[in-house]
Amino acid sequence: MNAQIITIGDEILQGQTLDTNANYLAKMLTDLSFTVERVCSIGDTKHSIVNTLDLSVGKYNLILITGGLGPTSDDITKKVLADYFDGELVENEEVLADVKKFVEARGFKLNDLNRKQALVPTSCKVIRNPLGTAPAMLFEKNNSFLVSMPGVPFEMKQIFEEKVIPELKKIMDFPTSCIKIVHTYGIPESMLAERLEDFEKELPDNLKLAYLPSPEGIKIKLFSFGGHQKRLCDLIEEQVKKLQNILGNNIFGFGDDTLEKVLAKELIAGNKKVSTAESCTGGLVGHKLTSVPGSSAYFCGGVVSYSNQVKIQTLGVKESTIENFGAVSKETVIEMAQGALNLFNTDYSIAVSGVAGPEGGSVDKTVGTTWIAIGSKDEINAFVFRFGTRRDINIRRAAATAMHLLINIIRKEKS
Ligand code: ATP
Ligand code: MG
Repeated sequence: MNAQIITIGDEILQGQTLDTNANYLAKMLTDLSFTVERVCSIGDTKHSIVNTLDLSVGKYNLILITGGLGPTSDDITKKVLADYFDGELVENEEVLADVKKFVEARGFKLNDLNRKQALVPTSCKVIRNPLGTAPAMLFEKNNSFLVSMPGVPFEMKQIFEEKVIPELKKIMDFPTSCIKIVHTYGIPESMLAERLEDFEKELPDNLKLAYLPSPEGIKIKLFSFGGHQKRLCDLIEEQVKKLQNILGNNIFGFGDDTLEKVLAKELIAGNKKVSTAESCTGGLVGHKLTSVPGSSAYFCGGVVSYSNQVKIQTLGVKESTIENFGAVSKETVIEMAQGALNLFNTDYSIAVSGVAGPEGGSVDKTVGTTWIAIGSKDEINAFVFRFGTRRDINIRRAAATAMHLLINIIRKEKS
């Protein structure tokens, strides 16, 4: 089944808003086994909307529209849709109640603009918005289903996942499919593809594999389609087992997992606490750790020891260590990790010191050289990495690598 995505908004065309809605919907539809044939962004004008609908309705099984549903005068989508699908705008009681509840919960009184949000075309099925503002609308014409949704990304995502998909499943035969994301860390993409060459060759015809790389690791997406739903998911699980045999501890999680979430789970499961001593990452490891809800259970604190003075005075790194070996060295990073353990009295510590670049490299410590130490009650292990030349990427890789190292150390201790 084919699909088109239309995002409406002058601010997208003018480069003020990055069109994340199209990206999100394209991914969701692909995951649901639709073939997304066309994505387009258009302005908030009757002319653009009608022209685009003329090219789409009757051509695609599913057309998703976002944006242009607000109460402000630049939002004319609803009126155009009402006309296009031979209806007229009427006030919908349920939607009015939703809008009223939403507005009053924020301490405001319903005004005329809010009231306009409760106007819906008579020719659509209204899909109420769980967040209580503009609803989504479902139309049908010439064998195309069209859904218009609000533009605000978090509202759109929620209404799409919780309301629109179930509604569409009632009226369309969704293709069967199953997806699993496997998160890997520590193997570059080219090496990963090499290690998985035979695995890929042996994949069944109805199972596809894709690599999605980022500084936080490479996601492997396994996607099976066609036939029985349960069989498709079983098929994926069989392949995941094979992947685990090949990649071992380079696989750190599945689905929605991230390095920080997985590390959080491991620390909580073992009732352990961690602290940080960060130089080149400037607190990114601490930030990642505290971005997970409930992080106070395992994160005590950290020192952003960017200058040598702070490394020495706060973390207790010896002046002679820095003089003899440099701030980016095994010796310094081990003393930083020890300093964090002493200061915060934690089970583990993470210390990072590297040359993030673009300046500051030397022959033996090129830009990207990064030392990471993981401290525990019994020992401190240090590792060196040579990342690339881009400062932003180096910093992200350093933080990700540090978290991955600690995950593996904890898992090893458990086994
Ligand atoms: P509102 O009730 O807020 O007016 P709306 O449905 O009319 O909602 P728009 O006015 O088109 O939606 O967009 C509201 C905001 O949502 C925009 O200012 C923009 O920040 C964001 N937004 C809209 N479309 C997109 C998009 N395609 N990708 C990312 N963000 C978007
Ligand atoms: Mg608007």
